[in-house]
Amino acid sequence: LTEAASQLTDLPGPDLYANADTAEEIRTCLGLGAQGIGVARTEHMFLAEAELGLLRAALWPGPGSADQALTTLQERLRVRCRDLEAACAGRKLVIRLLDPPTHEFSDDRHNVESVETNPMMGVRGSRLGLLRPDIYRMQTAAIVAAHQSLPEHRRAQLGILLPFVTYRAELRQLRRELAIPAGVQLGVMVETPEAAHRTGELAEDADFLSVGTNDLLQFCLAMSRDDVAAELIPAYLAAAVVPGDPMVRIEESASAMELLRLVRDRSGSTPWGICGEHAGDPIALRSLLALGPDYISVSAGGLAGAAIEIGRHRAALLLEPAGVGTPGA
Ligand code: PEP
Repeated sequence: LTEAASQLTDLPGPDLYANADTAEEIRTCLGLGAQGIGVARTEHMFLAEAELGLLRAALWPGPGSADQALTTLQERLRVRCRDLEAACAGRKLVIRLLDPPTHEFSDDRHNVESVETNPMMGVRGSRLGLLRPDIYRMQTAAIVAAHQSLPEHRRAQLGILLPFVTYRAELRQLRRELAIPAGVQLGVMVETPEAAHRTGELAEDADFLSVGTNDLLQFCLAMSRDDVAAELIPAYLAAAVVPGDPMVRIEESASAMELLRLVRDRSGSTPWGICGEHAGDPIALRSLLALGPDYISVSAGGLAGAAIEIGRHRAALLLEPAGVGTPGA
């Protein structure tokens, strides 16, 4: 019944998307049953040594070097996005603009030049886009050029996702500066408590909302997602940890779950989904599904488990049409 119910997409339940960064990963995820791609992270496309050097030159330019680096990066990104989109023809494809904590891209030399005491809370995502609009414009131009170069039947339903937006003014300024063409959606990540509280105003200006639970949870708990390892969690927190994984259980976090309810209640008619790793954990997913997101997006390894949970969720609705079968949100 669970399997059958997972196919009944007209029953309430979220769309199932995948997090994937290459055309090959996209094909794999679609083969595993993903309905589209909920987030393709552009920073992962820049991690090969050649591109990393160019990205460093763009982020921390020497005299005159940024323009050349940006031009080369734009062309490489255009080619990659064309491949992503062709792999996703007719389906949802959300490409996220650069979201560094910048230390992930720096080397020793650049570390010295770009010191941030706490890069996780520093010039991340849209903050970089506002301080360095040339970088976000380069990315948007590449993504849009790739989209428009394809014949209509090979295009995806394209969305561009802005990471680390907190205020509506940031979203409005970026929408203006990036000149997103009609037919391409602009979404925002909700990944700070402040952004979650501002869901109502963000939802009025965004085409969709994507909750980044990895960041949201680390900010709720003041617990670094990079540094917290399972063995470092004291015994009293053991129940909050996913076994064998340094991830803290989101469903055990009162503040994160409360913020997710806020997002649900204030998103209005703007679609909202969850794209953090927690949606790929079947136990957490039960609690997340009860909130009624419009979509979830998980890594390839989480797709099968998520499909089963969504099927279970729909089966419960079939068996309990009054909704008794769904855990109360
Ligand atoms: C998140 O924070 O949950 C997210 C999806 O973004 P990141 O790429 O930072 O993990």
